[in-house]
Amino acid sequence: MAFVFPPSVTTLAIVGGEDRFPVRRVYCVGRNYVAHIREMKEGDERDPPFFFQKPSDAVVSEGAVVPYPPATEDFQFEVELVVAIGKTARNVPVASALDVVFGYGIGVDLTRRDRQRESFKKGLPWEIGKSFDHSAPCGPLHTVALVGHRLEGGISLSVNGEVRQQGDLRQMIWNTPEIIANLSTQYRLEPGDLILTGTPAGVGAVVPGDRINASIEGLLPFSFSIGPEEA
Ligand code: MN
Repeated sequence: MAFVFPPSVTTLAIVGGEDRFPVRRVYCVGRNYVAHIREMKEGDERDPPFFFQKPSDAVVSEGAVVPYPPATEDFQFEVELVVAIGKTARNVPVASALDVVFGYGIGVDLTRRDRQRESFKKGLPWEIGKSFDHSAPCGPLHTVALVGHRLEGGISLSVNGEVRQQGDLRQMIWNTPEIIANLSTQYRLEPGDLILTGTPAGVGAVVPGDRINASIEGLLPFSFSIGPEEA
């Protein structure tokens, strides 16, 4: 048996070693910081967070040039804590949810905001707004052994050196154990899954040539840039 073409596996670097983390699924939390729900002016503030997915090959690594995507004129950033899952989890209680965490990283949930808003208004699926090529730049992962659990600390994003998003992980409506517990009632989480945990306020648009730097207290900063649209 041979593959008729090479299988594609997306991987992320792990800080402090040569090993790579193979990405299985990418889950994202929507509406997890009140200040971001307010700036979006859509839906009811009391609505709970929810989940959507991006394809695993939307994950691109440190230093990447993300081509400006087609089909948008409002291409926006959302900085988010990435939780990397290291064990199987199904119906895991909040109290033991952190036991399944492999480590943490910084991710940016890139969004075609114009397409997302249209989907919202028309009650259509979110894929065109959220789940496109290169839409999940992620920095290297830090193991729990290296950095512990990241339940609080500053999270920020700057564009061309100017700070645009600033918040604290403590502002999450669902914290990391609650996200894992909740998600594990809907899906069987497996090693290799990533969860992008929602964004604080300050989201905005970028254009080709922009340089994005994302930071979370206690993790290595992560950067990438926006390139021209692919031919
Ligand atoms: Mn997001």
